[in-house]
Amino acid sequence: MQRILKNYRKHYPKGRTALIKKAYEFAKEAHEGQKRYSGEAYFVHPKATAETLALWGLGEVTIAAGLLHDVVDDTPVTLDKVRQEFGSDVARLVQGVTKAGGVKLRGSIKIKQVENLRQLFLVMARDLRVVFVKLADRLHNMQTLEAVPLSKQGRIARETLEVYAPLAERVGMGEIKGELEDLSFPYLFPKEYQQTKKIYEKHVPEVGDYLKSVSQTLEKHLQEAGVSASMNGRAKHLYSLYKKLELRGGDIGQIYDLVALRVIVSNISDCYKALGVAHKNYRPAFAVAPIKDYIANPKTNGYQSLHTNVLGRGGLIFEIQIRTYQMHEEAEYGLAAHWYYSEAKKSGRISDEELSRGVMGKDTQLEWVKRLATWQKEEQDPDEYLKTLKTDVFKERIFVLTPQSDVIDLPKNATPVDFAYAIHSEVAECCRGARINGKIAPLSTGLKNGDIVEIITGRKKKRPSRDWLSFVVTAEAKSRIKKSLRQ
Ligand code: MN
Repeated sequence: MQRILKNYRKHYPKGRTALIKKAYEFAKEAHEGQKRYSGEAYFVHPKATAETLALWGLGEVTIAAGLLHDVVDDTPVTLDKVRQEFGSDVARLVQGVTKAGGVKLRGSIKIKQVENLRQLFLVMARDLRVVFVKLADRLHNMQTLEAVPLSKQGRIARETLEVYAPLAERVGMGEIKGELEDLSFPYLFPKEYQQTKKIYEKHVPEVGDYLKSVSQTLEKHLQEAGVSASMNGRAKHLYSLYKKLELRGGDIGQIYDLVALRVIVSNISDCYKALGVAHKNYRPAFAVAPIKDYIANPKTNGYQSLHTNVLGRGGLIFEIQIRTYQMHEEAEYGLAAHWYYSEAKKSGRISDEELSRGVMGKDTQLEWVKRLATWQKEEQDPDEYLKTLKTDVFKERIFVLTPQSDVIDLPKNATPVDFAYAIHSEVAECCRGARINGKIAPLSTGLKNGDIVEIITGRKKKRPSRDWLSFVVTAEAKSRIKKSLRQ
């Protein structure tokens, strides 16, 4: 309890705690006598989940739901009882988590799998807080996976890698995504895990030591240029290193971000200034990788930073990532990060003006990122606020599924033709019709979140119809259609 409240107090010095305390006692009693595979009391698990949620800066309702998330599934307590005791918000979250819990990847049962995924996306789109509870829940389950019977470990790890890690990325929680992947890695690919770990242990300390000295030099130069910055190093996550090594034929010499140097500054113009200072002192390695300006062009999940690869001692190429404090916290905690902001502001780390400029200045693709920045009023109930935000992340995007249960991420109002082009232009060029949720539907139908879409293809390619241009919404589909029509 103390740790939950300590984390919570960091974000809400004056926040209410009655609901959290009540949920704590309630869940503790409900799980009384139950044990986890490890032999520990079951309550350790919901407690850990709530602790994580508090750490991420989520509010009272979400933390209470974290404490209660397993009572309906695992104890005689009913959902009605939860509603009676804790109100409809907490009950709705608990219900969402319970339903979304049905996501299980069991190789052959494809239909069930698709249904479950579909349900997850629908639940998610209704209330984003469900996603946070699910991620915190999964994080603890992965941290304690060792104690689970061998026969179950593989499935749970696979689910984590294939569903939950991408989900974390989707809501902008890059750090959590990396953590979930790294926790799954040894269970799914034990041999590769050992190999990658060996490579990591051999190279990271060496590069890390060098970057420490670079960091000191660079900090001095930045100061001279009037930019105050905090510097830190970030070692690549193990699983992401493994994926990259695979891509590069196992050549560690071609991994330039094994350890990256992070330069964190207070505003956007200092980001570009810092880039200049970095390039003045370390020659950019354009031949290896161009500068990536994710500030001007944020990634679709809202990620912002400048990335550059530079040449260091002995021809070592390393990456420098430059970002503002706000971007940094958003990269770590995603949607949950904005509470960090009200916090940062209060501690005087960022001024109001910088706070608003940080995200408001640039047209990020996600409305919510902008709106998060405007949230500052202490008296506003955080859970209420999040509720109004709940669908924003998904408002402009929809998720539809292929019959094989691959998730295709499309803009709102996308049609089966957009879907076909998103899969492959060949598919679109052979497209004759579409089935949505098993029923034949016009190619111009607007797709909805969770639809299962199947493109009916002929054997031969066909010229796309000019009509298609009147309803497709993705740039990809538009340009491909125009190109084919010109030929
Ligand atoms: Mn759980």
